[in-house]
Amino acid sequence: MSGTPFYGPDFDLLSRQDPDIAAILLSELRRQQRDLQLIASENFTSRAIFATLGSTLSNKYAEGYPGKRYYGGCEEVDKAEIIAIDRAKSLFGAEHANVQPHSGASANLAVYAAFTKPGDTILAMSLPHGGHLTHGSKVSFSGKWFNIVSYGVRQDNELIDYDELRDLAIKNQPKMICSGATAYPSLIDFEKIRAICDEVGAIMWVDAAHFIGLVAGKAIPSPVPYADVVSFTTHKVLRGPRGGMILSKAEHGAAIDKAVFPGMQGGPIMSAVAGKAVALKECAQPEYQQYAKNVIANCQVLAASLEAEGMRAVSGGTQTHLALIDIRSTNVNGKVADQRCGAAGIVLNKNAIPFDPESPAVTSGIRVGTAATTTQGMGTPEMKVIGSLIARAIASDDEKVLARLRGEVHELTARFPIYSA
Ligand SMILES: *Cc1c(COP(=O)(O)O)cnc(C)c1O
Repeated sequence: MSGTPFYGPDFDLLSRQDPDIAAILLSELRRQQRDLQLIASENFTSRAIFATLGSTLSNKYAEGYPGKRYYGGCEEVDKAEIIAIDRAKSLFGAEHANVQPHSGASANLAVYAAFTKPGDTILAMSLPHGGHLTHGSKVSFSGKWFNIVSYGVRQDNELIDYDELRDLAIKNQPKMICSGATAYPSLIDFEKIRAICDEVGAIMWVDAAHFIGLVAGKAIPSPVPYADVVSFTTHKVLRGPRGGMILSKAEHGAAIDKAVFPGMQGGPIMSAVAGKAVALKECAQPEYQQYAKNVIANCQVLAASLEAEGMRAVSGGTQTHLALIDIRSTNVNGKVADQRCGAAGIVLNKNAIPFDPESPAVTSGIRVGTAATTTQGMGTPEMKVIGSLIARAIASDDEKVLARLRGEVHELTARFPIYSA
């Protein structure tokens, strides 16, 4: 089962030893190459980063922190973690960085552990308005262990209702105020949130998982100067390995480090830590800064092209890498639109819009993001084509038409190859 120069000689070894799994690696590679990847939280990481993930660093136990490990033999991995920490602090102008969280959700658990006790009140963005599961969903530890009070967006402009946020903060005196979301296309006013945190004596926590890559590329303002703590994933726009990270003011560094280890994790995944270091170096290059700007420009054109097809961009458009589209004008719900796009090789997700009349399993919207297609090298002409492909897919309940659309999608992606030889 060879046939992919991308995976290299080790893949041939895997093919002989475990053809079942090798086949999945190959078909997933093909899926990523052929279909249109518009999931707003996904990206194509670099081959250099893949090299760290498939390395011997994966074998090493390194509980603790550089110079203070619970295991011997950590000299080499210590160097990698120190480089990752230094690069994170310098890229974001942060006083402290912890590069060990296994994921965004793990990073968030550590933030709760560092600053709060079970039962404390936390103010966070409501899930139906774009907040994340770890911001208080009843099925997550956050909603089970904490008293979460939610703020949302205004109905008229679909932007965060800062007046409501302040009123709720004064009324509930939260220990911590969380901003950041999974489906919020606009910029967040960190200065305003800092002022509210100061007014009520709350910790300012920004969950920057989605947009931190745009901050790294200097394409949007940074929360780091304002926030006590900023948590994020490293695999979304940032384009690094799958993982999490936490930046904070120096005064909170010890509490964060203790919360991550031994608070909620054992050994860090050192191959991913090395991959985070490589990603941070990539993000510091002028090419990445151009990339971050292109991601936003592409998303604005994609949103405009969907509006030209009669749909509505929530909050009037986007200032980031993602757009939330109200598709009620098509008389097709989010669930069906997601399925039809999938059949046409367009991978996106259904998403609730603010004040959505449909249930979360159905929804009236879709969410699209341009991080991956921009990495592929697509630009604004392609975004216009993608807008029309999405509209045609949503409008069609005919399998043959959707299969033909899939052919058009594959012609488009073939012009922007990823992970080729
Ligand atoms: C993606 C995301 C997370 C969770 O990250 P995982 O790596 O999937 O655990 C947390 N918060 C926000 C806002 C996110 O967008």
